[in-house]
Formats: sequence, C-alpha cells, structure tokens
Amino acid sequence: MENKKGNESTNIEMIAFDADDTLWYAEKYYIQAQEQLHKLLDQYAGYETIEALMLETEARNVPVYGYGIKGFVISMIEVAIHVSDSSVNGETIRKILDIGRNMLAEEVSLFEGVPETLNAISDQYRMMVITKGDYHDQMSKVARSGLAHLFEIIEVVHEKTTATYARILEKYRLDPSRFIMVGNSLRSDILPVLELGGTTIHIPAETTWALETVPDFDDTSAGYYPITRFSQLPGLLSDIH
Ligand SMILES: [Mg+2]
Repeated sequence: MENKKGNESTNIEMIAFDADDTLWYAEKYYIQAQEQLHKLLDQYAGYETIEALMLETEARNVPVYGYGIKGFVISMIEVAIHVSDSSVNGETIRKILDIGRNMLAEEVSLFEGVPETLNAISDQYRMMVITKGDYHDQMSKVARSGLAHLFEIIEVVHEKTTATYARILEKYRLDPSRFIMVGNSLRSDILPVLELGGTTIHIPAETTWALETVPDFDDTSAGYYPITRFSQLPGLLSDIH
C-alpha cells in the first residue's frame, strides 16, 4: 500500500502513540492523589500501608472497573473503609471524591518536545493514538492536548494485550512489520507489539506504576528501540527505515 502521505522514502505505514506518560504526564497525578489520600487517613495508617493497600485494591479492581480515574476513586474509598475499619465519615469520603474530581479537571501537561516533534513528523507519517482507560476521560485529554488534529485515529481500549493490538491492526488493515508503537510501558506498549512482529520505541517515564513494570525484559529484543527524550524520535525514525 502506498503511504497516505505520499512519501516514498518510508516503509512505515502507521506510528501509534500511547498517551498517558508518553505524550503527557499522568502517573504523577496518581501519586499526588495517593499522598492526599494518606493525609486524609493518617490517623489510621502510614504512607507505606496506604500505598500497599492501594496497589492491592487497584490490582483487584482494574479487571472490574477498568483503568482510569473513576476506578481509582473507588479504590481510594475502599481503602478508606478498610483502614478505618468502616468508621470513616462522610466528610472524608467527600474529600476523596474531590481528589478524583480535581484529577479529571487537571490541565493536560505535555512532555517537553512533544508538540514540536509530532508536528515535525506529521507531514511524513500517518499517526494514531492507542490509549487505555476511561473513554470519556481519555478523549477529553486528547481534545484538551491540542494535538488531536495530528492523529488520524484515536483508539481507547480497556487493556493493551497482544489480542488488542492484533484487533486494531486488523481493523485498520495495517501490516505489523510496517507498524511502530511508541510508549512508556514495557507491559502495555512494547511487549505485545514485539510479539506481533511490530517495531517499538520505548520512552521510559520518570515514574512507572508498579502494575506496568516488567522486571525481566530482554532489551536486546529485535524491533526494540529505547530513547530517553521525545525529541529523539525523528532521528531514530530515519535510522530505522
Ligand atoms: Mg502510558
């Protein structure tokens, strides 16, 4: 298939981007929220206990409620009920709901170099977003990011497994060998795409949620390219193809 952008020098059919902690900050707002939760509950437990309980509760709740802030708020409330032995009052629950509401209203804060880099490569490559989480929240962030016009497709999915990527590639008739995924998460953005024979560009974020880490990842895998800054992307893309 000829590249839509009419560029004959590239073999790349589509570049897909993860959104949270790849294009803009996300994890730091969860960490801040957890610190606020701890302040509300410090009469019951220390920060490490709250942190461990949150991780355990989220791991249990993600399959039920999905990723995103709404499920996170439910987890915070469950933790509050648990550590207080069900004695937590309505006022504290209201403050927890406020933490979630403030997170949803948080300004979209792009990583350094993101708009410039995407603008620079947009003439040459077709681009899409593949993000997981709450549909409403993710679409709202894309709209508020000021980047929406650069992406041909926005896919909000519940989970990013090999099957998810296979379905997306099939849906848009994309060839895995001409598909590139750019993201911060080894588990969600890199491993499944490598498994399908795609190319991956890993930009590790400063902080990664414990549920997204892969301790024994083989960084010599074919098709795996790590970079440290978003602005290194154009150089790497011209090196790859
Ligand atoms: Mg991410």
